Amino acid sequence: MVGVGCMNRLVSYIKTFALWELLQGLSVTLRQYFKKSVTLEYPEEKTPQSHRFRGLHALRRYPNGEERCIACKLCEAVCPALAITIESDVSDDGTRRTSRYDIDLFKCIYCGFCEEACPVDAIVETRIHEYHMEAPGENIMTKDKLLAIGDKYDAMISADKAADAKYR
Ligand code: SF4
Ligand code: SF4
Repeated sequence: MVGVGCMNRLVSYIKTFALWELLQGLSVTLRQYFKKSVTLEYPEEKTPQSHRFRGLHALRRYPNGEERCIACKLCEAVCPALAITIESDVSDDGTRRTSRYDIDLFKCIYCGFCEEACPVDAIVETRIHEYHMEAPGENIMTKDKLLAIGDKYDAMISADKAADAKYR
């Protein structure tokens, strides 16, 4: 009489010679092949992005070109990573303005506290997330760089702010 152990070994041999595991694996591949893909061909294809996405920072202006920032330094005080450095001065028109506004992107943790604290919607985090640094010092976003981003992406920032206002 053939024992259970012998029978199991026989089945195992037959499976080995019939490439059973390989066929099982290929059947999984075949099933997935006809299903809707759950991955994207990044960067050509992109996932939807929230209007609240916290990416690269920008400093905004009013429609007349005037800088929004009034150098109150609330963003600098609230920043948990000590990433913001502000120096202020009196401008030609007698208003208080920043003479230096730096954000160290290596320190920043993209928490969004600076944007939340700003009373005039001057500092914002945009949806820009595809950027890199090549040279030492490029991690420091100076006032000029931040204003340039604000100018370039003003339409996107305004649309995101308007979308956000509906939830507040
Ligand atoms: S996002 Fe957060 S960590 Fe980055 S600068 Fe603003 S407050 Fe600081
Ligand atoms: S960005 Fe806003 S919070 Fe920061 S110093 Fe300027 S006005 Fe104040």
